[in-house]
Amino acid sequence: MSRTALVTGGSRGIGRAIARRLARDGAVVAVHYGSDEAAAKQTVALIEEDGGVAFTLRAELGVPGDAEALWAAFDERIGEFAERPGVDVLVLNAGVSANGRIHEVDEASYDRVFAVNAKAPFFLIKHGLDRLRDGGRIVTISSGVTKVAFPAMTAYAAAKGALEALTFTLAQDLGARGITVNAVAPGTIETDIHPWMADPLAKAAAAKFSVFDRVGQPDDVAEVVGFLASEQARWVTGQVLDASGGSGLGL
Ligand code: NAP
Repeated sequence: MSRTALVTGGSRGIGRAIARRLARDGAVVAVHYGSDEAAAKQTVALIEEDGGVAFTLRAELGVPGDAEALWAAFDERIGEFAERPGVDVLVLNAGVSANGRIHEVDEASYDRVFAVNAKAPFFLIKHGLDRLRDGGRIVTISSGVTKVAFPAMTAYAAAKGALEALTFTLAQDLGARGITVNAVAPGTIETDIHPWMADPLAKAAAAKFSVFDRVGQPDDVAEVVGFLASEQARWVTGQVLDASGGSGLGL
């Protein structure tokens, strides 16, 4: 029987690559998005071209009631695509960036980055637990900035730190159900979140963070998520897997 996966922010960037990878591995994939319906439909079309099954799911995150709304939309549609209700793989990928050193961050931008990047995953997991099957997988998408200090993104780093603490804590709590909970921490990945990468000089400078002297691509992260979602990763839980191309290894 097919597994079912839900990827938040599966419409673009890293989430799209994750959705495609999980579909290639045989899962029916719910491709969540917030506002860009065309991008979500494009992800579904790419999955279908590969012979997979997927559908779109809209829910704005970072607003009151977001988690309940997302799961209500999921419950409504899943019966059309999967043989049974419920989900096996939950990937909390949707996120927003937030720039600023601490003296530059106001309360509104702090609240926003925490609402989307930390609070939404918390309640998506809480309200998803009765849908998540035993033996399932939760993967959160963190960031290398929790390990390599990057003061230009203070509030973002703090929110990702909260997400990692949640990941670690839930791994203990959900172990009895055979559910693994892990985070993947990408370095600089070429997606829309970095419009400045259109500048070749800025992109070349970012490439220098990695020991491989290139910026990452969404597939570099998706492959790691695919592994964590697989049966082969059954003995890995409560971990943060670095997918940064060795960023910050040396001086
Ligand atoms: P992206 O290209 O900007 O895509 C973001 C995705 O999240 C889109 O599908 C977007 O859907 C969705 N999303 C964003 N805000 C939302 C909201 N409020 N409600 C609902 N959906 C929302 O970003 P990305 O670079 O792929 O990043 C994906 C994840 O990786 C994020 O958690 C990010 O923090 C993390 N990350 C990225 C990098 C990097 O260098 N790219 C590095 C480390 C970690 P809509 O367009 O429909 O809103």
